Amino acid sequence: MAGHLLILGAPGAGKGTQAMRLAGKHRWAHISTGDIFRRHGERGTEFGKKIEGYLKAGELVPDSLTCEVLVDRLSQSDCDNGYILDGFPRSVRQAEQLDRMLEEREEALDAVIVLDIGDDEIVERLTARRNCPKCGKIYNLKFSPPAIEGACDNETCGGAALEEREDDCEETIRQRLKVYHESTEPLIEHYAARELVQSIDAAAEGPCEIADKIEDILLAQGVS
Ligand code: ADP
Ligand code: ZN
Repeated sequence: MAGHLLILGAPGAGKGTQAMRLAGKHRWAHISTGDIFRRHGERGTEFGKKIEGYLKAGELVPDSLTCEVLVDRLSQSDCDNGYILDGFPRSVRQAEQLDRMLEEREEALDAVIVLDIGDDEIVERLTARRNCPKCGKIYNLKFSPPAIEGACDNETCGGAALEEREDDCEETIRQRLKVYHESTEPLIEHYAARELVQSIDAAAEGPCEIADKIEDILLAQGVS
């Protein structure tokens, strides 16, 4: 069944990990604006050059550019079977634009899942975060290290060397947290008014327990 989910939470709360897992399990599209932006940066596209500075500084990419990316992504056919929004919307303005896009597509959000976690825990996590450049799998050197140090576990990746994101240094993490509290956190209210919000304590639980809780929420909403 097509599900339309939004995962909200501070950087490093575990949105990407959960979104990737849900997308694989339910065959929904995983839409991460951050991933799309980073790919543009890596490929050195014109668009990538426009947005690079914002990512490095931990600032939001302007709404107009972000919405452009989202409209384009939603037009791809894999979204017809449902999708998970990871990292969009990040401001009330983006949320209003999303409302309009959903209306046009005659779709509605089934749930807004908030992964709740404190700032200090975030800094600890993000400085230990690594990812595989080939399959995108996210590791944490402290909590979920790979079997072989520095290499991806997936056989198909052939031991690819794990990488660290350029914006995962403490100074930029603090800036991203500030932006989260100022611009993104107010969205919880925006969606709470529609009784869509389901919060999960993302600091107390491991990724598997959080995944189970999300599945319970989906079942309760009649999406599975
Ligand atoms: P995280 O949630 O860990 O910060 P993301 O990959 O979601 O990581 O985002 C990385 C960066 O990409 C952000 O710090 C911001 O610069 C930019 N970005 C991602 N999504 C948006 C968005 N919806 N609006 C504006 N900027 C965004
Ligand atoms: Zn890999």
